[in-house]
Amino acid sequence: MKIIQVFALFFVITGCDYLSPKTSNPKLKSTIYVCSKCETILYDEKNMLYQNETSKDFSKSISDKVSYNSNSISNKEKLFCKKCNMEIGNYIKSDSINSNGRHCIDKNSIILKKILK
Ligand SMILES: [Zn+2]
Repeated sequence: MKIIQVFALFFVITGCDYLSPKTSNPKLKSTIYVCSKCETILYDEKNMLYQNETSKDFSKSISDKVSYNSNSISNKEKLFCKKCNMEIGNYIKSDSINSNGRHCIDKNSIILKKILK
């Protein structure tokens, strides 16, 4: 009988907190990826095309924070974080997945972070 009373009290105390608009509105949060070395914000999850076990692919980076050799005739170029120069993956100019180019990023090179907008 005592245990039931404790549970009932628990729900009365916590019930309203979980309904407050500040914590339940998902639009306030944005999911971004930062460089694992220098923590520069590199990619936004909304630009992610797909992911597999080793990499995440993005259609573009956030405000040109990465660099690659754009003059190369090769279809695949190494991608670097502009700030710390760490190699983070490959830029693929055009293929069957995305004809406008994609950023194929090593999962170990970026860290997921949730920020408030
Ligand atoms: Zn970096």
